[in-house]
Order: sequence, then structure tokens, then C-alpha cells
Amino acid sequence: MVKAIRIERTGGPEVMQWVEVDVGAPGAGEVRIKQHAVGLNYIDVYFRTGHYPMSLPAGLGMEAAGVVTEVGAGVTRFKAGDRVAYVARPPGAYAEERVLPADVLVKLPDSIGFDDAASAMLQGLTAQYLLRRTFRVEPGQTILIHAAAGGVGLFVCQWAKALGATVIGTVGSDEKAELAKAHGCDYPIVYTRENFTERVKEITNGAGVPVVYDSIGKDTYKGSLDCLAPLGYFVSFGSASGPLPPIEAAELSNRGSLFFTRPTLFSYIAKRDWLDTMAAELFDVIGSGKVRTNVRQRYALKDVAEAHRALEGRKTTGSTVLIP
Ligand code: NDP
Repeated sequence: MVKAIRIERTGGPEVMQWVEVDVGAPGAGEVRIKQHAVGLNYIDVYFRTGHYPMSLPAGLGMEAAGVVTEVGAGVTRFKAGDRVAYVARPPGAYAEERVLPADVLVKLPDSIGFDDAASAMLQGLTAQYLLRRTFRVEPGQTILIHAAAGGVGLFVCQWAKALGATVIGTVGSDEKAELAKAHGCDYPIVYTRENFTERVKEITNGAGVPVVYDSIGKDTYKGSLDCLAPLGYFVSFGSASGPLPPIEAAELSNRGSLFFTRPTLFSYIAKRDWLDTMAAELFDVIGSGKVRTNVRQRYALKDVAEAHRALEGRKTTGSTVLIP
């Protein structure tokens, strides 16, 4: 038996229970992993609150890093002792040990520690697809990223800067503005007191930006649409402030033939070779120092309720890892 977080109903952080579970031996095509670090992500809040539906009782958590302890029949790609990391559905990463399909794992380079890997898989791969696939950022472009000092935000700021872009980022406080700036955000905007749409227009001399990466949703989507230049991309990849209402096609045409996409990482890693390519690129930018991981909070996994309160209360910056 090992310890894991389970929920029997959706709700506040208190619904997460630290309980004993039976992990069992890996079946055909599966591996058993001893987890050394688990990543905390905003999507965990969506599942816990029921904003994203799932059948209950259930585990929580989408990513972790650790060591393979046992492999099932037919697994040739991994062996006991391999250092690995993953992002996987359904939720269940909040656990000391876990059995998973071998297909979802990537091998870790020796240079990347477990904490860094657990902080980088979901948030770093998200930055990769946002900047390289959803809208391919080119040198000289100016982009807007919301929650620039957050987990995904710090990856996007650094990576976009390394690609030669000018980065405008919104943040909830002056301290977060400093942090974003230190990670490549040229123009941090404290959107809790400044009108970010007006600031973006000023910074771009009225032209607007070719892409907005919006993970805030309800509170920002209208202002985000108004920041876009004609033919711009509205990339709505999260809803930390609540879901955005349906967007009318006329809202896109009236602003100059905009594009609207609502991407999720799981579509972009659905094929094994896509995952391999994206992970290789991520480990490469981390290994070369172009993009630094930012584990800025650590909690014992059993204290995950505290970590959720901090994340939802906008008290965290960068990434948070949970230690089993
Ligand atoms: P963050 O570390 O960015 O934390 C969320 C941040 O959102 C807060 O720190 C806060 O920053 C900002 N925020 C603004 N309004 C609110 C609000 N009302 N309540 C809470 N937070 C608010 O989290 P992650 O890096 O884990 O994720 C960032 C976003 O990206 C999330 O919306 C997540 O769902 C999304 N995401 C989407 C993926 C996809 O593939 N579609 C994959 C990964 C993440 P501030 O105070 O500066 O405003």
C-alpha cells in the first residue's frame, strides 16, 4: 500500500484526502514508478472544483517525475532504474507510487533533476506548443501573455524572448512585475490597477499584437480581443477567473478577421512522436540555459490543500512542486 490523494466529491481544497491505496503490479504495456516530485497545475483546481468533469471517486494531478521500479510485459523502451517524467490523463499524479502506460513516459536527461522535471513537463510543454505550434512566434514580433509571472507565464516569457520577440505580460502585483521582467518580459502591466488594453495600444503605437495568450478567461477575454491587430490570434488556453461566454463570429470579423482557438496540451501530445519532439525541444532550451525552470514553492504532497489555496489565491509565482 502507498499514500495518495483521493477525492470523493468536488469542492474546496478540503475535499482532498491523504489515503492508502493499492497500486498493484504493472500489466502489459505498463510501468510502475516511484515518484520523487509531482507538479502542481491550475488544471488540478479545475478538476477538484468540478469545472472540468470526471467520474468520482478519483485521484488528482497530471504530472510527475520519478524512477521506474517495475515494467510489465512487452515494455522494451523502459527498464527499472530509468529516470522518467510524464503528463497524463486521467488525473492521479498526487501519489507516492503509480502504475501508468509506458507510452506516456519520457526519459529524463541526467542534467534535469526531479523537481525541475515535474515543474517543466506540463507548463514547459504548454509554452512549447503555444509559441511553436498554435501561433509560431517570429523574431521581431510583439506578443501578449497574461499571468506572466505564473508557472506557464515564466516559461513563455523566457522562451518568447529567446525567439527574439518583444514580450508584454500582465501580472497581479508589482513584485510579480519585477519577477516577470527578470524572465524576459519587456513590458509588465499590473492589470489589477492598469487598463491592459490601453497599455498594449500605447506600447505598440496603436498597432496591437499578432497574438494574445489568454489563460484568465472571463475577466480578460474582451480586453484581449481588443489588443489584437487584424488577422491576429486569440489563443484562449485557460480560465483562471472563470469560463468565458460563447464568442460571436461577428466579434472576430468586426475586429479584423481574427482567429480564435481554444487549445489543450493533450491534443498536441496525442501522438508519440509529437511528445518526443516537444520534450526534446523543451529539454534542449532548458539544457542550453535559454529557459530556466522556476520552482518557487515546495509543499509536502500530504499538505497539497495548502498549495491549492495559495495557487487559487494568486499567492504563488513560477512553478510549485509537491514532494511525496
Ligand atoms: P499560474 O501559476 O499561472 O497561476 C494562475 C495565475 O492566474 C495566478 O497566479 C494569477 O496571476 C492569475 N489569475 C488571474 N485572475 C485569477 C483569478 N481570478 N483566480 C486565480 N488566478 C488568477 O497557473 P499555471 O501556470 O498552472 O496555469 C496558468 C494557466 O494556464 C491556467 O489558466 C491553466 O489552466 C492554463 N493552462 C492551460 C493549458 C492548456 O494546454 N490549455 C496547459 C497548462 C496551463 P496574477 O496574480 O499575476 O494575475
